[in-house]
Amino acid sequence: GKITIAVDGYSSTGKSTIAKRLATALGYIYVDTGAMYRAVTLYALDNGYIGTKDDIAGLVKELPKIKLKFVPNKETGRSEMYLNGENVEQEIRTMKVSRQVSKVAAIGEVRTKLVEMQQQMGKDKGIVMDGRDIGTVVFPDAELKLFMTASAEIRATRRYKELLEKGENVTFAEVLKNVQERDRIDSTRSISPLKKAKDAIEFDNSDMGLEEQFERIHEFAKR
Ligand code: C5P
Repeated sequence: GKITIAVDGYSSTGKSTIAKRLATALGYIYVDTGAMYRAVTLYALDNGYIGTKDDIAGLVKELPKIKLKFVPNKETGRSEMYLNGENVEQEIRTMKVSRQVSKVAAIGEVRTKLVEMQQQMGKDKGIVMDGRDIGTVVFPDAELKLFMTASAEIRATRRYKELLEKGENVTFAEVLKNVQERDRIDSTRSISPLKKAKDAIEFDNSDMGLEEQFERIHEFAKR
């Protein structure tokens, strides 16, 4: 039968690439929970709740007004994030959002709202979900849990290339700093900190090629 697959780990460890490939190979649904935290962050930025000064209480009050939806792109078939009816798939990946997202993701009320949505999306199994707390909090009973790691330099190099391809004006040093800063905040926050679930299988993909990595994980999933 179908199972639930949780993919957690540090920033830019290739979680989403692996999770997407697994979902395609198994005919499962793929959910990128980072996109949800990013969309709430974009809302907070656009409405002045986060920035030069933060109004966390104000943002928490507004949470019921934030409607998130994944909609498949008609051409690519890939699901894209919509925030209150607007496609924000590109905007949520910018450095502007990356710089603030870990702060927003540390807010308890934000996590409660998003975790509830995620559990609803995965209630029928046949799902691959990637994030930071999927194996520990969202689906503690997931049949397969993966925890991805890689050196900060390799992860920053990956993210830097992606951002350059999108035409963002960033330096490698800035991207490396952001990756390390997010890992620090994500693993030290008091609510649902990023950590490996006891029963998760750890993958360090610093020097393993994507193909090799995918083959190994696919084997696990088929067992
Ligand atoms: O996966 P991605 O790097 O896009 O996630 C962006 C940020 O969202 C993370 O750095 C983290 O702060 C937050 N996040 C989280 N819990 C998740 C997914 C993402 O706290 N399940």
